[in-house]
Amino acid sequence: MTGSVLWGGIEAGGTKFVCAIGAGPDDIRAQARFPTTTPAETLAWVVQFFRQQEEPVAAIGLGSFGPLDRRPASPTFGFITSTPKPGWSHTDIVGPLRRALDVPVAFDTDVNAAALGEARWGAAQGLATFVYLTVGTGIGGGGMVDGRLLHGLLHPEMGHMRVPHDEQRDPYRGCCPYHGDCLEGLASGTALAERWGQPALTLPADHSAWVLEAEYLALGLVNVICALSPQRVIVGGGVARQPALWPLLRRRVQELLNGYLQAEAILESIGEYIVPPALGERAGVLGALALAQQVEER
Ligand code: ZN
Repeated sequence: MTGSVLWGGIEAGGTKFVCAIGAGPDDIRAQARFPTTTPAETLAWVVQFFRQQEEPVAAIGLGSFGPLDRRPASPTFGFITSTPKPGWSHTDIVGPLRRALDVPVAFDTDVNAAALGEARWGAAQGLATFVYLTVGTGIGGGGMVDGRLLHGLLHPEMGHMRVPHDEQRDPYRGCCPYHGDCLEGLASGTALAERWGQPALTLPADHSAWVLEAEYLALGLVNVICALSPQRVIVGGGVARQPALWPLLRRRVQELLNGYLQAEAILESIGEYIVPPALGERAGVLGALALAQQVEER
């Protein structure tokens, strides 16, 4: 494999940064992870990781938690903007990396990066239009329409969709600092832990928490399916690791759509329509590598 062009990938998450150097999923030359502390300290670890490597990278892809600014003409291009994460709001993360490492840095949301990884090597290969939703500490969504990653005014914020909230069934008020009971406020891992008083993945499979979780996620997915008409929906993130959630979620999406969308994928084979990421927990960092490759190919 020597002689192949190498890229760098950075998955910038709210709790950890994962860095890798390689050419693809089967050719990773080095990998490291660092806790997300202060921007200065965390970015210094990242720079040190790339400087330590013997082989140069052609470009670096950075998939970051957000919200973030990726409008090329903006004075705050490359910044994380209004994040509630302490110490990280209005922080330039692309500039310090580009200056320290002197390579092009491709920058997108963590979910768009993961979506790109799935398009290249995973569950969305060959699809032009699909959605990637991640349900972890927060909820994020990205994906492609007609073969292009979803951008626009800013970038999609699917976690902050408003969904019906029956306060008699679920008196929990929601944990989003901006909206209270948006989708993230009701269905993120943070919401599960607050509502039930224990971490999401310690809730047993037969706990009613999962029926409610499937309800909220299905409401969100139905909105996305109706708005974008994705050919597949990938659901990743820590909360989606509960196997009991999947049949509940798929069935509830079918029930809510109520036969209106006459698509075999939804009516007959929803098990292949709403799926986990094929790259699993590597989707984020591999997606960042795929982002870097897009710079190279320009
Ligand atoms: Zn919100």
